[in-house]
Amino acid sequence: MTAVPGFACPHCGAVSYNPNDLREGYCGRCNRWARDPALIADQIACELERLDELSRVRNMVVVLQAREQELLAVHERSTVRVFVE
Ligand SMILES: [Zn+2]
Repeated sequence: MTAVPGFACPHCGAVSYNPNDLREGYCGRCNRWARDPALIADQIACELERLDELSRVRNMVVVLQAREQELLAVHERSTVRVFVE
């Protein structure tokens, strides 16, 4: 079995095994370049957005955990108990 290097276009996903396409990062299907600076800027912006989203989610988790602790503390202090048979 021989591994053939392929090039997947980041724009349209087309895979080319043409060595020229591979070397130049060119897609014959959509006629675009993989190393288009605008695309790289887009990718970076997209990654930053995801990081931002992740940190927002992390902050939410911290807030919810704190809220859970508060509620547990209230429950501990509460004299009202619900008994389920
Ligand atoms: Zn393409």
